[in-house]
Amino acid sequence: PLILGIESSCDETGVGLVRGCELLSDEVASSVDQHARFGGVVPEVASRAHLEAMTPTVQRALDRAGVKLSDVDAIAVTAGPGLAGALLVGVSAAKAYALALGKPLYGVNHLVGHVAVDQLEHGPLPKPTVALLVSGGHTSLLLVRDLATDVRLLGDTVDDAAGEAYDKVARLLDLPYPGGPPIDRAAREGDPGSIRFPRGKWGDGTYDFSFSGLKTAVARWVEDAERDGRPVPVPDVAAAFQEAVVDVLTRKAVDACREHGVEHMVISGGVAANSRLRALAEERCAAAGIELRVPRPRLCTDNGAMIAALGAEVVAAGLPPSRLDLATDTSLPVNRPLAG
Ligand code: ATP
Ligand code: MG
Ligand code: FE
Repeated sequence: PLILGIESSCDETGVGLVRGCELLSDEVASSVDQHARFGGVVPEVASRAHLEAMTPTVQRALDRAGVKLSDVDAIAVTAGPGLAGALLVGVSAAKAYALALGKPLYGVNHLVGHVAVDQLEHGPLPKPTVALLVSGGHTSLLLVRDLATDVRLLGDTVDDAAGEAYDKVARLLDLPYPGGPPIDRAAREGDPGSIRFPRGKWGDGTYDFSFSGLKTAVARWVEDAERDGRPVPVPDVAAAFQEAVVDVLTRKAVDACREHGVEHMVISGGVAANSRLRALAEERCAAAGIELRVPRPRLCTDNGAMIAALGAEVVAAGLPPSRLDLATDTSLPVNRPLAG
């Protein structure tokens, strides 16, 4: 079946078309430039941008895939988690398409979509797989036995998400928003061993994470340097911060595989685009005999194809469609792939 996926949980209007694990098109319109000067997403601005971008983005995705709206067999949409107003635009559009076409509607989980998208690049996810989900709002370790029906939460951040930490530290270093890509670039010129920043919840025997102490440590280091009139070595601070983040992430993800006897790992979400995370995970997985998959960076950040990919799984699993009065759920828990 041909699945149309619609994503609007944050600042990307994404529309994707997939058939099973085959990616036909993936169109994204981002309002990130409109938020940059605020240093974070402004919800009202995002909602308005979704409203303007939705119909043209759907059209572009259809054109790119070379299909017609009437060819679509089912509509999948992000029902949560995310910003209330932003989610509402996507869900309303999806309901309208479902009603007009007489096709089933599936309200799916954005976070599980981040994991599902890997199937479009690397084929069906091995079962079970440990998923490290690292995005702007979430940092979770998941045990995925089935994308549509069996996703378990092993651990979560107790404070900031990894992407949030990148964004906050970038601001401390006067780097632009969103902070992940500029820190990634700056860190390549720096020495990760030059400063030792704390590894939150390192070796605490849980799969939970903490990044707010790390952010505070970086802030203090920068303040101290400025007070003493020393120039802040941005590449070194970026590299040392990044090392602290990816060290804990990869260590706990590998531990989770070992404890659960799982030989496959997938890393997904916006921070999975990080070059150092990809390299260190590759190294540690190879040493532990774990097969690692990471989608290409373009698929790691928010897009509609990831929602279509999860929609395809939900359809294949024979789960019942959502009702047309499907509600958005701003805090939909990660262990519920299908909402409502
Ligand atoms: P969520 O999925 O939790 O609702 P979100 O959808 O806003 O949050 P994503 O789009 O998945 O998050 O990811 C955005 C985050 O990824 C931002 O915090 C951004 O800084 C980070 N990011 C993007 N590229 C990189 C990179 N190369 N290195 C590190 N972080 C990155
Ligand atoms: Mg975004
Ligand atoms: Fe996301």
